[in-house]
Amino acid sequence: MAHWRSLVFHALIIAQERRCFLCGQRFNPAFCERPEVPEHQRQHPDRATFDHLRPKALFGPDHWSNINLAHARCNRAKASRLPTPEEFDRLQSIWASVSVSKRDEIQAQWERQRKQSWTDRRGGGDT
Ligand SMILES: [Zn+2]
Repeated sequence: MAHWRSLVFHALIIAQERRCFLCGQRFNPAFCERPEVPEHQRQHPDRATFDHLRPKALFGPDHWSNINLAHARCNRAKASRLPTPEEFDRLQSIWASVSVSKRDEIQAQWERQRKQSWTDRRGGGDT
């Protein structure tokens, strides 16, 4: 059964039109197919990473509705700042464009799996 983070990745890569949430530039297609990044590309600055819009360091929830996809370099540059109102509205619009059935599936998996560990180490970009 797919991990909720994998479902989130595939939903967002489409909903964000393969563009970084933070800079708006397109992801390299090599990083758009699956959430797992090959070992030799784990430090690539252009890989797609999960960005928590409200940072975990500032008590942002590790919930799909708080997650977007951003380049590793953009994610790192953002560090732990709070989202702007525009970013908050934009992420809500992105998630609203995902079908209700897909969001329900993600929520169900999130409830089932949130206590399980996530083995895909995506480097330092998971803020
Ligand atoms: Zn970017």
